[in-house]
Amino acid sequence: MNMSFDAVYYEPNALDYELGKMLQAKYADLPWVEIENHNHIPELTAADNRNFPKLKSHLIIGVRKTHKYVPNHKVSDWLVPYTSSGCRAMCLYCYLVCNYNKCAYLRLFVNREQMLDGLLKKAAAAPFPQTFEIGSNSDLVLENTITDNLRDTIERFGSEGRGHLTFPTKFDMVHPLLNLNHRGKTIIRMSVNPQDIIHRIELGTSPLHARIQALNHVADAGYPVGLLIAPVILLPDWKRLYDELIEQLADELSKKVRQTGFIEIILMTYSFVQNAINTDAFPGAVQLLNRESMTGRGRGKYCYRKDIRIEAESFLRQKLSQQLGTMPILYIS
Ligand code: SF4
Repeated sequence: MNMSFDAVYYEPNALDYELGKMLQAKYADLPWVEIENHNHIPELTAADNRNFPKLKSHLIIGVRKTHKYVPNHKVSDWLVPYTSSGCRAMCLYCYLVCNYNKCAYLRLFVNREQMLDGLLKKAAAAPFPQTFEIGSNSDLVLENTITDNLRDTIERFGSEGRGHLTFPTKFDMVHPLLNLNHRGKTIIRMSVNPQDIIHRIELGTSPLHARIQALNHVADAGYPVGLLIAPVILLPDWKRLYDELIEQLADELSKKVRQTGFIEIILMTYSFVQNAINTDAFPGAVQLLNRESMTGRGRGKYCYRKDIRIEAESFLRQKLSQQLGTMPILYIS
């Protein structure tokens, strides 16, 4: 993964924090541009769609002000706004793009102690143990290569936290997590797709083989694990692609993952905004919007037609029960 940046946009008060100072030293060679608010950087918002890859090469540093937890009903009970949002990679379907329009660049929030304290407090006050999704706004394994934030998060939650933390990732840089004292309270979910889709659509993420090995390693290190087949993208030869993916998973996942892990499956949704950006910024890329197989879902969003979803679901369930029958499928959405 290319984790180089070409400029840092920063809120001045971010430099009062320990992490802000660390980042200031780490990226001292780059131009630093002062901003008022990480949520509103007019010169970047006004940029042309064609500049999307260029925007992704900026790093934004600020203080997170909103800490509102959103109830969730899948693997976790709560979605937690945590230490970053956005990402340096450029998956063509990334839902962060549709939420933030062009502003899906990596934003790091330096008030990490405040966020972790709040999380521990919420976990302690809940009537029964809860699971907190801390990676719904960014990829924390990728972020961790810059901030080392997962160390404190996982170890403090391990010793003081009640319930579980969880996050998904598309990256294999899990080595710094392997010796942490997690006490089984952090569930790591590896997001996978056929290698051909990773190569052509999940630009800048880790290859499939490396992701599978990383999942094996974290399971060996005692973390509870899951496999996220997401987003399922129904390209013309999707059956062959997902058949090969499931075969490779069955061959390469360790016995421990196959016996203790669970599976989640999410079919792709795509948006008008993403289509506009991708058309201008990646003119030669795979076309993800298929007006024959997709239908409108909410404002400016598209998902696969119901009959096509049913076919994909039954295909995946059948292949998975043949090849990875010991891993429960929690949901397909
Ligand atoms: S790795 Fe995740 S957060 Fe980053 S661009 Fe891809 S989908 Fe978005």
